Amino acid sequence: MIVVMKSDATQAEIVKVSDRLEQKGMQVQINHGVDCTVLGVLGDTYTVDKERIGLMGGVERVVSVQEPFKKANRKFHPEDSIIDVNGVKIGDGEVKVIAGPCSVESADQLASVAQSIRKSGAQILRGGAFKPRTSPYAFQGLGELGLDILVDVRNKVHMPIVTEIMAPRYVELFAEKVDMIQIGARNMQNFDLLKEIGQTNKPILLKRGLSNTLEEWLMSAEYIMAGGNENVILCERGIRTFETYTRNTLDLSAIPAIKKMSHLPIIVDPSHATGLPYMVEPLALAAVAAGADGIMIEVHNDPKHALCDGAQSLTPEQFDGIMSKINILKGVM
Ligand code: PEP
Ligand code: MN
Repeated sequence: MIVVMKSDATQAEIVKVSDRLEQKGMQVQINHGVDCTVLGVLGDTYTVDKERIGLMGGVERVVSVQEPFKKANRKFHPEDSIIDVNGVKIGDGEVKVIAGPCSVESADQLASVAQSIRKSGAQILRGGAFKPRTSPYAFQGLGELGLDILVDVRNKVHMPIVTEIMAPRYVELFAEKVDMIQIGARNMQNFDLLKEIGQTNKPILLKRGLSNTLEEWLMSAEYIMAGGNENVILCERGIRTFETYTRNTLDLSAIPAIKKMSHLPIIVDPSHATGLPYMVEPLALAAVAAGADGIMIEVHNDPKHALCDGAQSLTPEQFDGIMSKINILKGVM
């Protein structure tokens, strides 16, 4: 971090800023230039409140030379993180596939989808019990009953389960019942929720917010990791742009960018990214080719009658076709 002092900053102001930083445990090098004085600050500058330093007398501006995230940063953790989701390792170099319906609708529905996707080679079962819906009148999910159905089906098909949490009050329940907790796009910056799940040791699937930058996304991961839970998997699910043809715009460049910035695994959800079933296969394959650690796809036994996101869901047969192609591509990769 660099603090640039104003050209008319007094010696007393320079010393005050330097002292404040040293009290925070930083090492400060004072460089007197011709026009102004510049302070080079070394140490854990993540913990310094840059805005407050910027408001001190004589300060022109504060410039960060490092990213504001530390635990998620590849610089401090060069090797890839591998996250173990109840036996399924994400980030180990093999593409893993998560599939299932948008929401859990009944025990029969979930069991039927789970059996099909498992046969096709998916490793993890998804299904929402608590659904974040744009309309309060839309199906909100089965709630705790949905969680119990997920647990029953998990025990039947022996696949880890992932499902979305929306409120901090459910953290204990989720930690007890599910194998991976999903933070949906709409809650990526629900900081209370992030802090709460940071206290668990469950793998967290952190979706990218609808209009969040990569740095904001990694800062949300940092919230979870700062609480002690380093089991974070990122999920790119499309961002909001001016284009309306697709539900969102899939940002495939997030894959190499995140790989460069962070050691955390990244998976891609082409279902929510596009909202169009015919686009799920090409974009799933593109994500694998771009280096994604996994894919998450919505699959429904009867998409036309699904209670949520039927329009983007694939049938088990369509999903099976994608799995064959992913396997061919995995071989090529
Ligand atoms: C989901 O996975 O069903 C979901 C609601 O996703 P997102 O948060 O990405 O919209
Ligand atoms: Mn959905």
